[in-house]
Amino acid sequence: MALVVHKYGGTSVGSVERIRLVAEQVRKAKENGDRLVVVVSAMSGETDRLLGLAKALVERPSGRELDVLLATGEQVTIALLAIALQAIGVDAVSYTGAQVRILTDEAHNKARIREIDGDRVHRDLASGKVVVVAGFQGVDENGNITTLGRGGSDTTAVAMAAALAADECRIYTDVDGVYTTDPRIVPKARRLDVVTYEEMLEMASLGAKVLQIRSVEFASKYNVRLRVLSSFVDGPGTLITAEDEVMEEAVISGVTLNRDEAKLTILGVSDRPGIAATILGPIADANIEVDMIVQNVGSDGNTDFTFTVHRNDYKTAMEILQLTAAELGASGVTGDNTIVKVSIVGVGMRSHAGLASRMFRALAEEGINIQMISTSEIKVSVVVNEKYAELSVRTLHDAFGLHDKSAAA
Ligand code: ADP
Ligand code: ASP
Ligand code: MG
Repeated sequence: MALVVHKYGGTSVGSVERIRLVAEQVRKAKENGDRLVVVVSAMSGETDRLLGLAKALVERPSGRELDVLLATGEQVTIALLAIALQAIGVDAVSYTGAQVRILTDEAHNKARIREIDGDRVHRDLASGKVVVVAGFQGVDENGNITTLGRGGSDTTAVAMAAALAADECRIYTDVDGVYTTDPRIVPKARRLDVVTYEEMLEMASLGAKVLQIRSVEFASKYNVRLRVLSSFVDGPGTLITAEDEVMEEAVISGVTLNRDEAKLTILGVSDRPGIAATILGPIADANIEVDMIVQNVGSDGNTDFTFTVHRNDYKTAMEILQLTAAELGASGVTGDNTIVKVSIVGVGMRSHAGLASRMFRALAEEGINIQMISTSEIKVSVVVNEKYAELSVRTLHDAFGLHDKSAAA
């Protein structure tokens, strides 16, 4: 008897009718002999609605109280799914994150899972029950409710699969797999049969929100067989697995878009050892993650220094940078929160030269100006103005022939 973790995202449990369909699907899997743990998200739009309520009261609600609030979204859907399962004769029980004991650290709104107690779940499974678990939430050592960051139900599912040593973790969503790029932007994007953990990790980090980054990290670390599938139509979906299981590697597997970007520049600071640390130290102290960094070649011993942050952190980063600029006697600070990052990703890049220049040429032919560039072994990213976001993605998808499997570069 296989032990399988299913996860259903917001759209898949977006109404009572949809929850009924999920219950039917779970019943079928159970009848086929699987032991099942089902992780669910809040109904689509619910987490945003709750966030909106809190933000209508204050701009920055307390992290602890926000978690108490946001966790209710998933508490609703676990109960409804368990009720729907019982109604069709499936023995089911629902648990919140705290009830399972999904122990996390104390970082409210972006907590990390430390440990999962699988005993209770194993006991229920042994007695023939389907166990329904709230995604996105856990509890810290002091009993405070925590949440795992947006999209966190994916991570709950994979972490449960790892902790229970499940045979497979199946992420059911509103697309039938991982595509060469977001099919909402490029309708002719192609579903990938297999993606390596490493590629998926890059794709998720660079903006493909089909899986939360942390869930892919977990899957890779604990070797969880992970599959993304549609909750509405049958199909093989996309398998995410270790590189040695992937037979045929495309050079480029996908194009990603990240809209959550902003850049800041400090102008005319003296080009001396320690300057980067002086500028970025206070930003790091404020818990702001810096992504790309460019320091220009200085003239007259002075230099300009540019870096990117998450768009949500733009205002705070700007305030900090202005203080630093005053201390350093810089000639000014500029910023832009209308930028996006577009990337090409593929493990095959390791062994192929010339892909970056092909990327830059394709963008240039469309008159798209590149503002910043960064590369790693398996990706090339560029920053462009947000008005070119979709055009850049479509251009690169075409330039690398990604819609056509046989032509994929
Ligand atoms: P869920 O609510 O089920 O967690 P999400 O909205 O978080 O679903 O993720 C699914 C969405 O991810 C899709 O509807 C799609 O628009 C988007 N997406 C972005 N990039 C990709 C990609 N490369 N492949 C598939 N889907 C993608
Ligand atoms: N409900 C949470 C969110 O909207 C978690 C999830 O859906 O994965 O981000
Ligand atoms: Mg999601």
